[in-house]
Amino acid sequence: MSESVEWQYPIRYGEETEVSADVLVLGGGLAGCFAAISAARKGLKVVLVDKSCTIHSGAAGTGIDHWMGCPANPASKITPKQYTLSPIETFRGGYGNVIATYIMARDSYDVLLELEKMGMKVRDTEDEFKGAEFRDEKTKLLFAYDYANRHCIRIWGTGMKPTLYRECKRLGVNLYERTMVTSLLTEGGKQGARVVGATAVNTRTGEFYVFKAKASVLCMCTPERLWIFSTEWTGLVGRDGPPTNAGDGHAMAWRAGAELTMMERSTHEEWGGSTGIGSIMFSSGSSFATWFPCSIVDANGKEIPWVDTNGKPIPTISQRTHPAPGQDFFSLVLGGGEGGTSSVPCLIPDLAERIKRGEFALPLYADLPGMPEHERRAIFGLMVGQEGHTWPVYRNLTQAGFDPDKDLLQVYELAPAPPGWRRLRYGGLVHDWDLKTNLDGLYAAGQQIFDGCGASHACSTGRWAGNRAAEYAMRADEPVVNSEQVDSEKARVYVPIERSDGIDWKELESGIAKVMQDYCGDTKTEELINIGLKSLGEIKEAEASTLCARNPHELMRTLEVLDILTCGEIIIHASLARKASNRWLSFERLDYPEDDPPEWRKWVTLKLEDNEVKVDELPLDYYGSLKESYEAHKK
Ligand SMILES: Cc1cc2nc3c(=O)[nH]c(=O)nc-3n(C[C@H](O)[C@H](O)[C@H](O)COP(=O)(O)OP(=O)(O)OC[C@H]3O[C@@H](n4cnc5c(N)ncnc54)[C@H](O)[C@@H]3O)c2cc1C
Repeated sequence: MSESVEWQYPIRYGEETEVSADVLVLGGGLAGCFAAISAARKGLKVVLVDKSCTIHSGAAGTGIDHWMGCPANPASKITPKQYTLSPIETFRGGYGNVIATYIMARDSYDVLLELEKMGMKVRDTEDEFKGAEFRDEKTKLLFAYDYANRHCIRIWGTGMKPTLYRECKRLGVNLYERTMVTSLLTEGGKQGARVVGATAVNTRTGEFYVFKAKASVLCMCTPERLWIFSTEWTGLVGRDGPPTNAGDGHAMAWRAGAELTMMERSTHEEWGGSTGIGSIMFSSGSSFATWFPCSIVDANGKEIPWVDTNGKPIPTISQRTHPAPGQDFFSLVLGGGEGGTSSVPCLIPDLAERIKRGEFALPLYADLPGMPEHERRAIFGLMVGQEGHTWPVYRNLTQAGFDPDKDLLQVYELAPAPPGWRRLRYGGLVHDWDLKTNLDGLYAAGQQIFDGCGASHACSTGRWAGNRAAEYAMRADEPVVNSEQVDSEKARVYVPIERSDGIDWKELESGIAKVMQDYCGDTKTEELINIGLKSLGEIKEAEASTLCARNPHELMRTLEVLDILTCGEIIIHASLARKASNRWLSFERLDYPEDDPPEWRKWVTLKLEDNEVKVDELPLDYYGSLKESYEAHKK
């Protein structure tokens, strides 16, 4: 390690502050803010801790453009039950989180109205898109993708985090920002016991915090930095979300004895962003997601054809936004193409081969001028301007004189097509209908729970978990923190700043990424995965025990990388546990090639018991009855 850099904040290593709350929310992204707001509305003392700055933290910090999973809106033609079950059964082999999806499907319209009441723009109040096929004239809501069934709403999502932040402040939620949660505290310091709070360290001063709470809600999203690491080339990027989402929540829940599932599904897909080097998704011309249903032309202006879910050609632009004959509805996020079939209209799947045969000439371009006026304005302006992945692109291109009425925009990567959407589904915490984990006092929401995906999912489950946690807190005993557990965590946290000689977090993170790429990649065997587990164990014993940090920021990064290592181990254990290939989970075992055999049609769950990995299972339909369970638990 080189000399210490000058640090501009007061250093307070070792100083300790104790904070009490009824409900403690860990992570202040979409799910966390909504959990805090719901609990605060019940008049409880709520503390929210975020590693970053809540106003713009988390995956939605820079904006989002789609409010998906909203079949309960007045213009929708499908029911929440249809929305929940049909795509999971048809396009995902049954491997979906039905509880959370149904909560989202039932509640997300109410949640959107709450956001509107808080001040976020959700409809076309200026009548900019009056008469557009995707506008509902009565409500002025603008829809995306499936214009016939209308369950996904285009929104002005750059305003979402500031709106939630202001509402938290208004309701008196106590915010602890730039504060990294490092561990969960359990009754008697025991693994598997009731959660009674958490520890944290300030990322500017290094001060230590002990949060004591009757109930906690874990909302730290998913591990994002496991398979890719290249700060010098592309910056600190993950697969999709911000680098702060390093998997700390998964790691601390694991250490506390919480149960996780679908972790073998947490595969890299395309490493770190759509090009594999962490480029911004949809930042060039595209036909996918934010850019749907934009036409793509080749270098000679020849249009690339589209096909429907049955592989049949789609002749008109308008038909790209309607279900195929015989298809009830389509949904990007639920029918993302696992198993090789896309529910969503997309470019011909054999485009690459047809380019090679000379049928189309590279490069390709997004043909905005060829789109109908309303579609063009909705894509370049509303969507590209609101989506966090693309708003700087909108700003830069507009400032540089790009005119969507006249100019084509080059496509630097073939649209991943809906199967590429698979990457956004991860493993996470197991939960019941209260979104309570197997640990008393611990609730979870957003991408912290297994198969969590999307903004409306995060907000709806955050709201639900916050309410259930508040109800638990109202009847729970006073939490008692175990001082030995606190002392031991405090000692662990500060070790890297006490060393002056060793490796830094970057070196360790790139080593972990290499192990994950080589031994836990697309195709796995028992031998490969075991080598991966052994390698991570050796790294933990050797390199990780020499980690150094020169200031509180590096301390944060160092602690993150230790959590990344833990997440790698969980994924490897899960991959060892599932002894069958499974295309729905993008999980290929060369030594167990049979795809999804009947005896493996189940969730594989894992947790630590007395620090030993315990593998168990849950039936895929452990959710029981939808309507009855939802209503019983909504209380
Ligand atoms: C650029 C971009 C655009 C997107 N666009 C859309 C869209 O249009 N529609 C859609 O439905 N979805 C979209 N998504 C996905 C959506 O934003 C996420 O699904 C959603 O934000 C997940 O919510 P969450 O609360 O689980 O996690 P996040 O919102 O990411 O929040 C996690 C929070 O945990 C905090 N945290 C992490 N670790 C710690 C720690 N140790 N201590 C304290 N705090 C911690 C982070 O700082 C962060 O604030 C987009 C995602 C990205 C990255």
